[in-house]
Amino acid sequence: MAQYDVIVIGSGPGGYVAAIRAAQLGLKTACVEGRDTLGGTCLNIGCIPSKALLHASHQLHEAEHNFAKMGLKGKSPSVDWKQMLAYKDDVIGQNTKGIEFLFKKNKITWLKGWGSIPEAGKVKVGDEVHEAKNIIVATGSEASSIPNVEIDEKVVVSSTGALELAKIPKKLCVIGAGVIGLELGSVYARLGSEVQVIEYLDAVTPGMDAEVSKQFQRLLAKQGLSFTLGAAVQGVEATKTKAKVTYKLRKDDSEHSVDADVVLVATGRKPYTDGLGLEDLGVEMMPRGQVKVDSHWRTSVPGIYAIGDCIEGPMLAHKAEDEGMACAEVIAGKHGHVNYGVIPSVIYTHPEVSSVGATEEQLKKEGRAYKVGKFSFMGNGRAKANFAGDGFVKLLADKETDRLLGAHMIGPMVGDLIHEICVAMEFGASAEDVALTCHAHPTYSEAVREAALACGSGAIHM
Ligand code: FAD
Repeated sequence: MAQYDVIVIGSGPGGYVAAIRAAQLGLKTACVEGRDTLGGTCLNIGCIPSKALLHASHQLHEAEHNFAKMGLKGKSPSVDWKQMLAYKDDVIGQNTKGIEFLFKKNKITWLKGWGSIPEAGKVKVGDEVHEAKNIIVATGSEASSIPNVEIDEKVVVSSTGALELAKIPKKLCVIGAGVIGLELGSVYARLGSEVQVIEYLDAVTPGMDAEVSKQFQRLLAKQGLSFTLGAAVQGVEATKTKAKVTYKLRKDDSEHSVDADVVLVATGRKPYTDGLGLEDLGVEMMPRGQVKVDSHWRTSVPGIYAIGDCIEGPMLAHKAEDEGMACAEVIAGKHGHVNYGVIPSVIYTHPEVSSVGATEEQLKKEGRAYKVGKFSFMGNGRAKANFAGDGFVKLLADKETDRLLGAHMIGPMVGDLIHEICVAMEFGASAEDVALTCHAHPTYSEAVREAALACGSGAIHM
């Protein structure tokens, strides 16, 4: 029977990062993964493949819409879907192999197969039982559906099927206007599909700053996506090649239907802990299926920890990674910590959308005195040169102290720009601290500084 200091179950961004950090801290570590490749949802069927398709389809959009304006004339590229999927698979392969390399480098044993925990201190993989002083459950999440909608991954697909459709659909119906639905919807809209998004709520991307959400919807509509909001999907009837989605408008209960070649069900994800045996061990669970943990990722059973999508909090790869690192540090007797108040979220459409910290709506609800500094990318020289003037940066700061409380951005590269504010918030900086920092010209990041200036005496280029 092999003995380890730590066995991590699941090799997604939570699990593999936890394993690497544990090994770096001198702990004998193994990671169990049932999939054929390492990297979890993120690398295999999530973040990475979706970003590859977003990148490829954005290049097509640029060629079709902006090349001629810059004097780059000629036939616009046509889409070889098979090749695009091959490119995406190659990107996945490079990334998953990269984790394999890191495991070897850090002397982490990959226990291949599906793991379960027959008792605290033991992990069973296949017929073998391994001993572990500490077990980290990092088994992630899976797509969830809604009543009367059965996913077949061909005509009615989750994000997993949407990343490998047999062909580009003429009409795609997306159920759910969250991050995953809008990213993949925008991929297929750029590739020529007619895309209709049906959403239960009255706005896209619930929880997002309302101004950003409105502008985001407007810009996606300009790119050809159509939106049916306030609509409750009643069911989907599918044949081998087509599907009909029926929905009721919440304002008047009227029933409608829409035909599509493919329906993407993007109504959220749920924690995945099947087959681990947690119930038999007496591990306490949350009402919505997450593993219950304390502030040090300890479950109710000593020696068993849990991190990532299978516990509470935003289902994001970087949140899982941070928890992975911190949990390994706690196990090694150090002071692992995650600041849940400063976890950015990003939508990788074009333009991108990003946010961190409180929204204006939250601050209003709390009755907190705040000020807003806003700057439009129309006033940013680099953005204008790159046909990227749509969008803005909005900073929220405490009215008295000027301390940054949140940032909400829509525009070019804002998925990267947001980190300037994350760092500032981690250091407890004021808007003035950002405003006083010299920013290189011409860069998109000048828009962040201008928004910070707008929190004080005013932006220069507005
Ligand atoms: P996962 O990545 O889900 O990994 C869990 C792993 O555990 C899986 O490989 C699974 O096979 C394995 N496993 C489960 N049970 C067992 C068992 N019993 N034995 C052995 N192995 C087991 N997040 C972002 O931050 N940015 C993005 O851009 C982004 N894009 C996304 C796009 C899509 C289409 C999807 C679906 C998700 C996206 N996400 C994104 C979310 C992100 O993928 C997850 O938040 C992240 O993968 C969670 O990491 P994790 O380590 O908790 O679990």
